Amino acid sequence: MPAQIIDGKKIAKQITEGLKKKVAALQGDARPGLAVVRVGDDPASVSYVNSKEKKCKELGYYSVKKELPEETSEKELLKLVAELNADPRIHGILVQLPLPKHISEQKVLAAISPEKDVDGFHPMNLGRLLRHEKTIESCTPKGIIKLIKSTGIEIAGKNAVVVGRSNIVGKPVAALLLNENATVTICHSKTTDLTSHLKQADIVVVAVGQASLITGDMLKKGAVVIDVGTNRLEDGKLHGDVDFESAEKVAGFLTPVPGGVGPMTIACLMENTYEAFAS
Ligand code: NDP
Repeated sequence: MPAQIIDGKKIAKQITEGLKKKVAALQGDARPGLAVVRVGDDPASVSYVNSKEKKCKELGYYSVKKELPEETSEKELLKLVAELNADPRIHGILVQLPLPKHISEQKVLAAISPEKDVDGFHPMNLGRLLRHEKTIESCTPKGIIKLIKSTGIEIAGKNAVVVGRSNIVGKPVAALLLNENATVTICHSKTTDLTSHLKQADIVVVAVGQASLITGDMLKKGAVVIDVGTNRLEDGKLHGDVDFESAEKVAGFLTPVPGGVGPMTIACLMENTYEAFAS
């Protein structure tokens, strides 16, 4: 039997529809406020920032979009972050990555007030995540856990393999899976036998950035497979890190690209912003 496809678009819509209703029911003028900051003209960043602004409008959030030129200095960007930290209308601040090379991402992310860090990248929030304390969870990892839970499969006790160890996806998703009591293995570019790990995995999360790296023959029958990868190939289309055709024949559940993790990331950003507003 082919894998059941996990419909990220549908689950994301359920989340955003719920938020829209909550905002519509608010009394007075107060509403969740999100500031999105972009530096430079990276086309992917332009499109991400625009879609976040559009989603804010759709949900009735207060939204601020700051678009700064490539040559903006680190000092200027830090000043803007400080202003947004102090602005009571803003509950969430997102600085779109990557930043130009002359600006330290580490410094800028650490300058965002942890309470407004709706991307969950601040060292304080990542530390709380590792300690299994209340925190703002990074949007993509948070969305991935929701997708896994949507299958009805119990995470506790399962073998989970995360392929990729970035600070924005791999490591936080591994921490979340551990907090859900999975037995977690993290694989990366120096892993010697990826297939031997994947063959034991009931849950697989792939966040590498290499089209079709994972094929069906590497997976355990019935596994829940979450494909985070977004690779734009010569055909102009978006491809995941998992070879959909072969994986579909082996996996129990599988996310498509596009339409899987992507819509969940933005829905979780909106959820984090609402929660920052409400807390
Ligand atoms: P990074 O480039 O930061 O990390 C990639 C990871 O993959 C690294 O840990 C690297 O290992 C590992 N890796 C590289 N080659 C292999 C290999 N052959 N086998 C096993 N592991 C390997 O990427 P990100 O985490 O930022 O993003 C990963 C993908 O997810 C990208 O396609 C990105 O576009 C997508 N993405 C999608 C989002 C969404 O909302 N849909 C959000 C964020 C990311 P090492 O550490 O050893 O170098």
